[in-house]
Amino acid sequence: MALIVQKFGGSSVADAESIKRVAKRIVDARRAGNEVVVAVSAMGDTTDELLDLAHEVAPIPAPRELDMLLTAGERISMALLAMAIENLGVEARSFTGSQAGMITDAQHGAARIVDVTPKRVQEAVAEGAVAIVAGFQGFSRITGDITTLGRGGSDTTAVALAAALGAEVCEIYTDVDGIFTSDPRMVPLARKIDRITSEEMLELAAAGAKVLYIRAVEYARRHGVTLHVRSSFNSNEGTIVYTPVAPGHDENGAAVEEPVISGVAADLSEAKITVVGVPDVPGKAAYIFKLIARAGANIDMIVQNVSAALTGRTDISFTLPKSDAQQVLTALTNAQDEIGFERLQHDDQIGKLSLVGAGMRTNVGVSADLFAALSAAGINIEMISTSEIRISVVTRADTIADAVRAVHTAFGLDADTEAIVHGGTGR
Ligand code: ASP
Ligand code: MG
Repeated sequence: MALIVQKFGGSSVADAESIKRVAKRIVDARRAGNEVVVAVSAMGDTTDELLDLAHEVAPIPAPRELDMLLTAGERISMALLAMAIENLGVEARSFTGSQAGMITDAQHGAARIVDVTPKRVQEAVAEGAVAIVAGFQGFSRITGDITTLGRGGSDTTAVALAAALGAEVCEIYTDVDGIFTSDPRMVPLARKIDRITSEEMLELAAAGAKVLYIRAVEYARRHGVTLHVRSSFNSNEGTIVYTPVAPGHDENGAAVEEPVISGVAADLSEAKITVVGVPDVPGKAAYIFKLIARAGANIDMIVQNVSAALTGRTDISFTLPKSDAQQVLTALTNAQDEIGFERLQHDDQIGKLSLVGAGMRTNVGVSADLFAALSAAGINIEMISTSEIRISVVTRADTIADAVRAVHTAFGLDADTEAIVHGGTGR
C-alpha cells in the first residue's frame, strides 16, 4: 500500500460543487488501495477576503490575531471536505495544523516549520481513514500560539507532511495542467514540462513563475520529496519535480540528459534604482547596501561599472520589489551628503526575463544565443545577471511579453498547439 499526500489549492475547493468533485477524487485514490493524507487551502478567495476584513477594522492588524483569523479559512474547507468524503462512504478526519503536529517558529505571517509530529494523522491513516490537514498553519511551542506559513503556505504543509510520513509522492493539485515552459497567458505556445529538477524549479519560482511556492520547493529539495504538480480538473499526468541523487541523474539514480533550457520566466514586480555619481572610493558600496538592508529591502540584481577615469565617479544600479522602493529611496536620500552621490533615479517600468536550464552548466553559447534572439526582436538589454543554471536580463516592461515569446521560439520550446488556460491564477 502506498501512502500519498494530495494538496488541493483554493481554486480547487472554491464552492460546494468543487468540494464534492475533490472528495470524489480523494475517495478514488483511497479505493485504489492507497493511504491518503490531504492538505487543503481555504476556499477560493477566502484568505484575501479575511485580510480585507481585518484591514477594515484596523489599519495594521495585530499579527497574532491576523493569524488566528486567517487560519479559520482552512478550518472551513477541511471540515467541509471531510464531510463530503464521509458522504461518499469513506471515513475521513480533519485536523488543524497544530493537531497535525505542524510545529513552527513564532514568526506570525511567515512562520517556518521546525518539526512535524503527525501522530494523530498516522493514527487516522492506520485506522483506514483519510486524514485532511488544514494547510498554511502551524503552532509555536515557544509562544503557544497559532501561526501561518506565509501566502501560498499550503504547498509547504503538503510537502512537510509528505517528508514526515515518508510518502511515495506529494501531489499538488491546481488549476493548470502542470509546470509550463513559460506562462501560457503570455506565451500561448508554452509547453507542459514532463519532468524538471527541483533546482530548476527553484530558479523558475524565484524568477517569477507562480505555480509553486519557493519555500515548498526548498523543503522538497532538502528532504528529497518528489512532487507531482497536476490539474484537479482532469486526470492528465502533470509535471514531476524531482531531486537528482547526483548531477545528470534522476531521483532513483538513473542517468538522464538534462535539457539545456527548461523554461523562460517573466517578472514584472521589480523596480530599478540607480545611485548616480557615487565617489569611486572604497566603502561607498558597503555603506549604500548597509542602508538598504536596514530598510528591510530584498535586492535582486546589482550592476556597477568602473568609473570613467576623468570623473572619479560611478553609477550603481540595483533591482528590488516595487513595494520596497520607496523606503530605500528615503533611506538613501537621508544619507546623500554622507555618501556624496549626485542624485537618485527610480524606474518602475522594467521587466525581467529569465532563462533556466540545468544543462546550461555544460553548454557554452547559451548567453550568445539569448542576446541574438533579443536583438533580432529589437529588444534592448539594460542589465544582465547569471547563476550556474540561469541567465536573467532586464528590459523595458512593455517589451517583456514580446521578449519572452521571441526567446521561447528561439530556444525551440514552442509547442505545436496553444496551451489551454482554465482561467484562475495558476494557484
Ligand atoms: N489560503 C492561503 C493563501 O491563500 C494558503 C494557500 O492558499 O496555500 O495564501
Ligand atoms: Mg489560497
